[in-house]
Amino acid sequence: MNTLIPPRLKPAQTAFFLDFDGTLVPFDKPDINTPVVDDALRSLLEELRGRADGALALITGRTIEVLDSLFDPLALAAAGEHGGEWRQTPGFEVESITPPPGLAAAQQHCEAFAQAHPGTRFERKKLSMVIHFHEFPGLRDAAAEAAKLACVPGSGIRMLHARGMVEVKPVDASKGQAIERFMQSAPFAGRVPVFIGDDVTDEDGFIAVNAQGGISIKVGSGSSHARYRLADEDAVRGWLESL
Ligand SMILES: [Mg+2]
Repeated sequence: MNTLIPPRLKPAQTAFFLDFDGTLVPFDKPDINTPVVDDALRSLLEELRGRADGALALITGRTIEVLDSLFDPLALAAAGEHGGEWRQTPGFEVESITPPPGLAAAQQHCEAFAQAHPGTRFERKKLSMVIHFHEFPGLRDAAAEAAKLACVPGSGIRMLHARGMVEVKPVDASKGQAIERFMQSAPFAGRVPVFIGDDVTDEDGFIAVNAQGGISIKVGSGSSHARYRLADEDAVRGWLESL
């Protein structure tokens, strides 16, 4: 894998947008549902946020509620459910888009699929859903087919492939839109946006920061719109610490 180390940045002029799984914590652990947020990571993000005058947000597929429980007692600006919900300022209310019309029916459909297919697991979120098949990659096509069937015209949802899972999420939400929303107001506005992510769902975010003259960084291998590369989450932490 080619790695193109991102340039040195001045945190005081930068807006940091960071994916979570596979970017700040390892993705491929058996305890994928309960990743450990260690004190070193809390300190790193808290210090970086301070040096960036508050312009740091996590951009994740998880819900903000789950993020808060993982990072407790540290609360961060965040967009959850791939941009479907967001909180600009820690301590303030979480805002969200209106749930898409086809959400409930799709959740029922995908849950029934998972129940009928041992090796898959259904995860229900407020605005989206996931069919996991991490240990059984042979179930990928069947899971994708089931998810696609749930995305009927007019449902307002679409399917995305991700590592070890397929995600079904609102058409009206993306990590790119989340970043654009943050960039419209303080403390993010007027800064150079940086987005670091590892998965297919992060590509919208890379496109958004590229369009704003920002720095897009892909973690790991695979084709990407990102202009820079870091090898893994240790490399991400090392690069952030170097700033
Ligand atoms: Mg990720």
